[in-house]
Amino acid sequence: YLLRAGSWRALPPRIYVALVGQLFGTPPSTNIIEVALVATIGGLAAWRSADPWLAALTLITCAAILTIIPFRRHYAERRILAQHPESVRAFEQRFERLSWAISAGMGLMAARALLATDDTLVHLTLIVVALGATTASLRYHFRPRIAFGRAVAINGPLAGGLILTGDLYYVILGLAALAATKLFLAVCVQLYRGSLAVLTTIEEKERLADELQAANADLEHRESERREAEAAVRRLRAELTHVSRLSAMGAMASTLAHELNQPLTAVTNYVRGSRRLLEDPSDATLGQVGEAMAAAEAGALRAGQIIRRMRGLVYRGKAETRPENLEALIREACDLALIDAERLGITHRLDLASEARWAHVDHVQIQQVLINIIRNAVEAMSESPRREIDIATRIADGSFIEIGVADTGPGIAQSEDGALFTPFRSTKSEGLGIGLSISRTIVEAHGGKIWAAAGEEGGAVFRFTLPTAAAPDLA
Ligand code: ADP
Repeated sequence: YLLRAGSWRALPPRIYVALVGQLFGTPPSTNIIEVALVATIGGLAAWRSADPWLAALTLITCAAILTIIPFRRHYAERRILAQHPESVRAFEQRFERLSWAISAGMGLMAARALLATDDTLVHLTLIVVALGATTASLRYHFRPRIAFGRAVAINGPLAGGLILTGDLYYVILGLAALAATKLFLAVCVQLYRGSLAVLTTIEEKERLADELQAANADLEHRESERREAEAAVRRLRAELTHVSRLSAMGAMASTLAHELNQPLTAVTNYVRGSRRLLEDPSDATLGQVGEAMAAAEAGALRAGQIIRRMRGLVYRGKAETRPENLEALIREACDLALIDAERLGITHRLDLASEARWAHVDHVQIQQVLINIIRNAVEAMSESPRREIDIATRIADGSFIEIGVADTGPGIAQSEDGALFTPFRSTKSEGLGIGLSISRTIVEAHGGKIWAAAGEEGGAVFRFTLPTAAAPDLA
């Protein structure tokens, strides 16, 4: 290729790349190219001249070049640089000695080829070997002695031939080698500069990559810290929600105890009466006992239901959303929150749209929101002449259900407007002021909104939205 190519620009890209590699020895395997070159030229000359010495010299030189490959690899992988300075020096000495051996092999080979044959082709190929000296001098630009040795070893025989014979032929050959070397040198300098630029970019890239990696590690660290902080906030919020639920239950405890007492007292009375009737059983009394037992059963069931719902709210479960029947959920919340309604003279009305029945929510949490709002309404109406609560649902927009709880209390004080949902804002002497703020957190975690407004006929309306769900397949 080198001989045929008129200009170095005409070289096929693969050769070009190989030359760059050969020059700067980035991949150690480029020495293979050197071996191939020496083997071809030496082999050709030995075959043409049938000179066994030349063949032996070629073999030895190739072997020497092959021996240097592991050295180069060792160096390229920067393993040697990581070692003690003394071992680095010893390594470089051995490397230098091997390089001298290669130079000597190449020089002897060239001289022998010149002496052994008159073949023009062999002599021309020697010019190529001379070019190799230039490559070497550039490759070993950091070791001038090796470069010098290589140049002398290859170009020496040509000069020797000239001096010994005074034959013009050698003059032409020497001049041709010189011209070719000069041209090649120009090419190599270009390549070298280009490669230097590439090397600098690579170094810059490596430095930037290191910086990027460090920045990434830092970012990952911060990200994991942020995630941990978020998890802690989530845990605390769940804890607070639970505490607020317990506090709501605590506030209702006396009411609940009172309301539980009623069915239990009724059960006791029915059972006592029945026992008395059974002391003197007759057909008529047995019928009465049956009725009394049914009434006792209903009372016990009601008490059990109240306790079960309370337990559901006190239970610290994992929040999980699923399609829930809002109608059943609202009725259950009313059972608990309006347990003393009758005694307080409060009536309530439900206006639940059938198309707004299924919502994607966490059962316990939404019950908590409803109980907070309904209990607030109950407490707000304690002084009101009219005591009514209206709970209505409707489809707000395609994917949300709006739930409204309206009361006939005094309404929201102007000064409280907007601050209602802020934590620890309470107008009640024993209020904690966290009910509405927790409710907002819960509703927003469901993707909904919560707000308060003035009712049409006075009083307050609290509305919130929840995502709709498809009715589950009951089959
Ligand atoms: P708490 O009930 O412990 O005070 P909340 O966060 O539930 O805490 O309520 C905050 C405040 O909002 C209440 O103190 C009250 O002033 C006001 N509020 C809530 N609901 C109503 C209502 N239905 N009518 C009038 N004011 C209300």
